[in-house]
Amino acid sequence: MRNGDVSYWWQARGGFPARRPSLPGPAEADVCIVGGGYTGLWTAYYLKGLRPELRVVVLEAAFAGFGASGRNGGWVTAELPGSRARFARGPRGTAGVRDLEAALRDTVDEVGRVIAAESIPADFVRGGRLAVATSPSQLARLRDTLKHVRERGDGDDIYAFLGQDELAEHINIAGALGGLYAPHSARIQPAALAAGLAEAAERRGVEIYEATPVTAILPSDHAGGPGIGAVARTTFGDVRARSVLRCTEGFTAELAGSRRVLLPMNSSMVVTEPLPADVWKQIGWDGCETLSDEAHAYMYAQRTADGRIAIGGRGVPYRFGSATDNRGVTDESTARALEALLHRYFPAAAGTPLAHAWCGVLGVPRDWCASVTYHPASGIGWAGGYTGHGVAAANLAGRTLADLVAGSSSALTTLPWVGHRWRSWEPEPARWAGVHSLYTLYRLADRLETGGADGSPARVTMGEALAKVGDAISGIPH
Ligand SMILES: Cc1cc2nc3c(=O)[nH]c(=O)nc-3n(C[C@H](O)[C@H](O)[C@H](O)COP(=O)(O)OP(=O)(O)OC[C@H]3O[C@@H](n4cnc5c(N)ncnc54)[C@H](O)[C@@H]3O)c2cc1C
Repeated sequence: MRNGDVSYWWQARGGFPARRPSLPGPAEADVCIVGGGYTGLWTAYYLKGLRPELRVVVLEAAFAGFGASGRNGGWVTAELPGSRARFARGPRGTAGVRDLEAALRDTVDEVGRVIAAESIPADFVRGGRLAVATSPSQLARLRDTLKHVRERGDGDDIYAFLGQDELAEHINIAGALGGLYAPHSARIQPAALAAGLAEAAERRGVEIYEATPVTAILPSDHAGGPGIGAVARTTFGDVRARSVLRCTEGFTAELAGSRRVLLPMNSSMVVTEPLPADVWKQIGWDGCETLSDEAHAYMYAQRTADGRIAIGGRGVPYRFGSATDNRGVTDESTARALEALLHRYFPAAAGTPLAHAWCGVLGVPRDWCASVTYHPASGIGWAGGYTGHGVAAANLAGRTLADLVAGSSSALTTLPWVGHRWRSWEPEPARWAGVHSLYTLYRLADRLETGGADGSPARVTMGEALAKVGDAISGIPH
């Protein structure tokens, strides 16, 4: 099994893309975007669509798609990157949250539209999303979710309940008791989208400089320049621009002054070798729905275009001091735990070895609610903190940032995540201890809920209670 090399998704494309040049020296631009993942690339793409005359420069520490955007589970889903209740505290209340949810649903189609329009070979299949329960506690949570969905007036076109038999028409998962189906979700090959998007942005005139890490983003007057706009500082020189946008999600802690802004949460994945046709016959999954379970330390999965199963989960949740990772190398025990889960859910796949394991970091704000923010006075903006639901959200964030920078007010610029603020994460060692305790609690809760050897009701109740304590401490929205 290969481990690291950024991700299977890059290796499936035949390796890393040809490297673009680094920043040749100090420069001036209208807009400087820091980070060449989906957020930065979508922002650049839409901004050049709105205002072709602007000089838009992307500075990327490694290569476009090196981060989570080239490593993720490939779910383009309309999941809200945050808590309904917290977003509803904004001036537009629940109406604003409903608009944000509707905008995210439209975003799934928008991603598909651009993929088609730009001929990006990203294996986009809009098969919907399945959330599967494999224990009575998980089933109760699904029913609870459905109850809340119905209470706010949403029907089967948003979430439909599937009993065991209906679920089996989509997919055969050992031990599944039922599921929820959400049509607004698509499967993609993540690195193919990142690579294709970078090229599409370049066709619009965006300049992308790679191997160009930014060490600090400063208001222009703090960087010894005229008091207009901001500066992105690199070892190759400063880029001065009217607007500088931080699009570094899980890597944000590496920027000067941003150590406690976003927690780099780790997520790990494994992918099998291609499964034989008879195994696929047993599993089904012909619709290529994106898939998750309802565990507290949940898994996410996709059926790849080349007939493999890619499955991910938390593994080591967080590295001390907000460290990121070593080009995607994950620890062996996480890979084996994901393999065991894969075999538990898909026993027919047990004879097919794993091909590759990797990991990456995503950005988590202290209140678990993403934000798109732009300060016209300083020219500094950012987007991120999607808490693991960043593939679709980064597109919506990119369109929104583009509108904000272009100065056009639109339906997007009044969505409740615009200007949303959160407090900083705790300093170490509290940050490390908190996250690790939380996931220890969640894993214990999952074990108790599934009953283990003696599935006594008391153990199940204890598991559910522990998870609630975890939610209350962490502030994770449900
Ligand atoms: C394993 C994994 C699975 C996931 N699965 C899903 C999923 O299925 N669906 C979903 O919706 N979300 C998923 N996510 C989350 C999602 O991938 C991210 O939220 C999203 O890709 C974030 O995009 P981004 O552009 O903001 O950040 P990134 O893609 O991380 O890009 C940030 C870029 O900035 C660059 N950078 C960092 N610091 C600097 C600097 N100082 N100077 C210059 N450049 C810098 C990095 O090299 C990187 O390329 C997953 C994440 C991981 C790690």
